[in-house]
Parts: sequence; structure tokens; C-alpha cells
Amino acid sequence: MTTDGIKDLLEGIVGPNHVFSSPDGPRLVVRPGSTEEVSRCLATMNAQAVPVVTLGGMTGLVGGTDLFGSVIGLSTERLSKIHSLDPIRKLLFVDAGVKLEEIHRFVSEHGLRYGVDFGARGSCTIGGNIATNAGGNSVVRFGMTRANIVGLEAVLSDGRILSDMGGLVKNNTGYDLKHLFVGSEGTLGVVTKAVLRLSRPSSDTASVLLALNGLDDALAVMATLEHRCGQSLLSMEIMWNRYFKTVSKAILKGSPPPLSDAFPIYILAQVEGVDADISAQDVLVRSLDDVDLIQESALADSRSGQEAFWSIRDGSEFIETSHPRVLSFDVSMRPQDYATYVEKVEKRLGEALPNAVPYNFGHLADGNVHFMIGHDNMVPEADHIIETCVYETLSDYWPTSVSAEHGIGREKADHLWRSRSVEEIGVMNAIRAVLDPVGILNPHVQYRTRK
Ligand SMILES: Cc1cc2nc3c(=O)[nH]c(=O)nc-3n(C[C@H](O)[C@H](O)[C@H](O)COP(=O)(O)OP(=O)(O)OC[C@H]3O[C@@H](n4cnc5c(N)ncnc54)[C@H](O)[C@@H]3O)c2cc1C
Repeated sequence: MTTDGIKDLLEGIVGPNHVFSSPDGPRLVVRPGSTEEVSRCLATMNAQAVPVVTLGGMTGLVGGTDLFGSVIGLSTERLSKIHSLDPIRKLLFVDAGVKLEEIHRFVSEHGLRYGVDFGARGSCTIGGNIATNAGGNSVVRFGMTRANIVGLEAVLSDGRILSDMGGLVKNNTGYDLKHLFVGSEGTLGVVTKAVLRLSRPSSDTASVLLALNGLDDALAVMATLEHRCGQSLLSMEIMWNRYFKTVSKAILKGSPPPLSDAFPIYILAQVEGVDADISAQDVLVRSLDDVDLIQESALADSRSGQEAFWSIRDGSEFIETSHPRVLSFDVSMRPQDYATYVEKVEKRLGEALPNAVPYNFGHLADGNVHFMIGHDNMVPEADHIIETCVYETLSDYWPTSVSAEHGIGREKADHLWRSRSVEEIGVMNAIRAVLDPVGILNPHVQYRTRK
């Protein structure tokens, strides 16, 4: 069928105002306004074997929302309603296109909290978070998105609507199908609604920024905080020197950073007060009082003070613009393997591509390092050399993942074999073939074995 032909069919479903050309090219984007419209759009595209890529907030970091060839984008922008809050069960019922930040704002107005949070909150959607099983800054306390989803609704490629929106905590009647869609990156269906698990926050939080002399010290401080803070601990993030220095300079525009920027490692930890007798700030002070590995520290319990610390941790966009080209990696391993892994990658990079500049940060307690590696784009094979340094070094360790949080998208498909067995990839493709036999859903996200 011609592009005009499919456009007419889609306009007949969603109205002419909601089918338009993508901003970057000639491809169509359709913007359904309800689950039923998603269902009719998918059924139509499936019947014509037209490939479709679901578009959430488009903050994904692995090319999962790239539009290419003859694909049509299906945007969840109009699926943007917060439906209801169940205060007894502490559940929120939302459309998939609702932004993460809006969820935080809404639930906090009701004295509640949603446990998943990270830097892209202003743009990313709950549907995208589900499709990527997003992690974020508080996985140590709340787990990844999977642990915070109690129900969802998804539309299959042929238009069938699969709904599990009851939000029951206990329902052991066969397979828990909703979990198939968590982390499926749009390959099994379009998520249209979700039920989110909430909790009651403490109004008292505090954050501490610590400067340390090395990774071994970071692991020792992590163990101390985990042990002494227990349920109070909300986050424990790590920044290596160059990341801390570059982002704080960009953010603070000449004002001094909260700590000297001369130390190899920085930890940012946040706790909340869970006991009326002791404030969050005192939890931190008491936990760290006798720890002599800390070289410098800064403590904040005001909202603005904490936001200032967190803006450094969440400021990776400043790295994006600091070199002609920047590659992002998102690997995971046992925290005790960080030190030698990072050292080996940096050594290899220094030998193979001396102009490459690594900026490292990540989620310390989750064993998740984000490498952003900038280069001047003058060496033709630079991207390949950098990928080899990061991924080949991973094979010295086990267990590891080539994508701790961001998924496979277009960019990680060639490396999937490093983290998944042939048998696992086979089962993933078999499930996909059952739910999307024509193969229209996000065909660029490919589960490939080693070439
Ligand atoms: C500054 C910054 C910080 C970040 N920090 C983190 C972090 O700490 N942890 C983390 O995990 N990620 C992080 N990310 C990555 C990204 O924000 C997450 O992957 C996020 O969950 C993507 O949501 P989105 O709505 O933007 O999805 P998109 O980018 O639009 O889509 C991502 C994938 O999901 C599919 N998809 C989107 N919506 C749906 C739907 N409704 N149904 C089915 N498939 C769908 C898309 O087709 C695509 O394959 C960060 C990104 C940025 C830019």
C-alpha cells in the first residue's frame, strides 16, 4: 500500500490532525488518543504489514525510536491522562504517555511517592519506562520499573487488547503476562496504561556528597551506609573525577563546587528519615562519623541544597556537548569488579585512541557504570575502537551486561550475545513470533546471536 493510502486509513481512525510527517523527514507519525484507537491503528498496519515504531518521550539512549525506511511512528503523546489514585492500596492508574515528572508531582500532592526517578523525568513517559524497564537513582531502595508496576494494558500487533489493570498484589493464576512487556522495548505490543505501586515518603530527606581516594574506599563506604542506614537509604551514586569536575563547572558557572574537584571519586547518597526520633541528616552524620576514608564531605537537608548536588549527578547532557562526538555505554557488573574493569578500559583506550576522553559515573550500589566517551571524530574507526575497548574488556568478568538499563534498541544488537546465551535469544525470538507474527513492531530492535 502507498504512504498516502495508509495515511488515509490512519486519518480515518484518529482524525487528520493526528497523522503528520516526522519533524526530521518524510515519515508518518500517528498519534492515537485512546487504547481503542491504538488497537485500530495497529490492526490496520498489521493487515498491511506496515512496520511501526512506538514513540514515548524519545529520551532512550540506544536508538530505539529511530524512524527509518518505511516505518510509521506511533506516538503515545495523547495517552496522557492520570486516571485515578487508590489511596488504600496506594496505587496510581495512568495512561502510558504520562511523563514521569507529572507522576511525581501528582502523587506528591497526595502525600505519596513513586519509587522510580532519574534525570530524564521531564520528558520520558511511563510507557517508555516500562518498555525499557528503567532503573534510575533509587534502585537500591525500590528496584527497577518492573518492581514498581502492578498492572498494565498493552495492545498486540493485531489490535487485541491485553488488560491486567486490577492491581492485585496476589494473582498466581498462570503466567504473569504483564512482565513480558516490561523491558520489551516495544517489540511485543504497545503499552497503553499502567498501574503503579506507590509508597508513603518521609518529608525529611538529606543528601551527602563525599570525596574519596579510590574505588576500594567507595565500596567500603557503600557497605557502611547500607548497613547503618538500612531502609533509610534511597540512593547511592558514583561519579569519577572528570565527570564531577566537568559537570560541576558547567552547572556552577564560576561558583566553587560543593567539594574540591581534586579527588578521584565522589559518592552522592540520599537518605530519608524513617524514625521520628532521628532526622535524615542525623542518620547520615551518625553513619559516617567514624569513617576515616572520607576526604571531604558536604551535607544538605534543604530541598534546594539537595537539588544542587543532584544537578551534578543528573547533568550528563553537559558531557554530550563537550566533544564533536560522544558515545554512551551502560554496563553492569559486580561492584567489586569496577576498579579493575574501569582501569583496564581506560588503559586500552589510552593506547588505542589517545584522544578519547572517558567520563564515568553510575549507580554505585547497582553495579552499573555509565561511560560517556568523547572524541574529536578525526579517526574514521574511532567508534569501533571505543566499543571494542569497553565490550572486549567486559569479557574478562562475569556476570556482566552490555546494557544495564537502556535496552538493546538499534545500537546494542550486535553485542547482545555478550550478555545472553543462544538459548535465551532463541526463546526471546520465539515469544516475539507468537505475539507479533507479521513482525511489524519495532523491527529494528533485533535479538541477534553472534554474527
Ligand atoms: C538525561 C538522561 C538520563 C537518563 N537516566 C536514566 C536512568 O538513570 N535509568 C534508565 O533506566 N534510563 C535512563 N535514561 C534513558 C531513558 O530516559 C529511559 O530509557 C526511559 O525509560 C525512556 O522513556 P521514553 O518515554 O523516553 O521512551 P522512548 O525513548 O520514547 O522509547 C524507548 C523504547 O521504548 C519503546 N516504547 C516507548 N513507549 C512505549 C510504549 N508505550 N509501549 C511500548 N513500547 C514503548 C520505544 O519504541 C523504544 O524502543 C536517561 C536518559 C537521559 C536522556
